[in-house]
Amino acid sequence: METEAKCREWDVFETDGQCAVCGRKAVFSPIQPGFSLRETRCSSCRASRRTRDVGRVLAQLSAGPGVRLLPDALPAMADWRVFEAQAAGPLHDRLRCLPGYGCSEYVPEIAEPGQCTQAGLRCEDLERLSFGDAAFDLVVTQDILEHVAEPWRAFDEIWRVLAPGGRHVFTVPMHEGHATTTRVRYDKAGRRDVLPPVHHGDPVRQGGSLVVTDFGDDLPVLLTRRGQPTFVASHVAFYKPTEMPGIIEGDLYEEYVKAWKAGEKAGFLRYNSVVFVTEKPA
Ligand SMILES: [Zn+2]
Repeated sequence: METEAKCREWDVFETDGQCAVCGRKAVFSPIQPGFSLRETRCSSCRASRRTRDVGRVLAQLSAGPGVRLLPDALPAMADWRVFEAQAAGPLHDRLRCLPGYGCSEYVPEIAEPGQCTQAGLRCEDLERLSFGDAAFDLVVTQDILEHVAEPWRAFDEIWRVLAPGGRHVFTVPMHEGHATTTRVRYDKAGRRDVLPPVHHGDPVRQGGSLVVTDFGDDLPVLLTRRGQPTFVASHVAFYKPTEMPGIIEGDLYEEYVKAWKAGEKAGFLRYNSVVFVTEKPA
C-alpha cells in the first residue's frame, strides 16, 4: 500500500493558510510559546494540528487526493456510517451533520458501556464495543488508544465493527525511533506500572489520562502483521527523534514531572503529527 511521502512543504504550511477542518483562513498558534507544534490551534475552530491533519486525510480518502478541506468532502461522505470515539471538539462539530454519524465517550462512572447517560451521551468501551460486526464505514479515534488498558483488544474490536472497505483513521502520539512499549499492565491483582506513570491532558477527566502504551514507529507493521493492514497517511515532521521525549524514564522522567508541576507538560511532550489509516479490504 502506498505510504505518503514524509513531510511535504504543504504539510507544514497547511492548505494555503486554510484550516482543513473548518475550511476558513486562520492562524495556527501554539497553545503557549514553545508548546508542541502538534497541538497548535486554528484561530477559527480551535482544531489542533493533529485534528487538522485528520481532517485533511478524511477529505482525501473520501473525495480524492486533490481535496484537502473537510467541508468540501462532506458530500462525498453523505452515505458513510461513521463512529467517532469522542463526542465533542472541532472534528465532531463538522462530522455530526452527516446522517450516518454517531459518537461516544468512555464514561463508565455515569453510564454502562452501550448505554446513554441522562444527558443523552452514549458510553462505549473500545475493548467491548456494543455494535454489531461490519457496522461502520469509518471509525475515528484521536489520541485515545494509548490510554486503553488492552489496546490490541480495542484494535480488534474496531476491526470487527468495520465494514468491508471501511477504515479506521486515528492518531496516537508516536515515539519515533522506539519500539512500541507497554507502560502499565493490568492483571487480577490490578494495575502494575512497568514504567513510571505518565499522564496526558484529558478534556473529560481532571488530572489527565494515564498512558498505558507508548506506540513506536513499528505500529503500522504490528497491526498489519495482526491482519489489519495499516499505513501512515500523513506524517508532518516538526521534530527529529532526538528532540522528542521518547520513552520516559530515569532522568527524563524527572524532567517530565518538573514540567508537569509547572503546568508545562505540553511543552515537554513534543511529537510529530502522524495520522494512521487501517483499511479493511472491500
Ligand atoms: Zn479551523
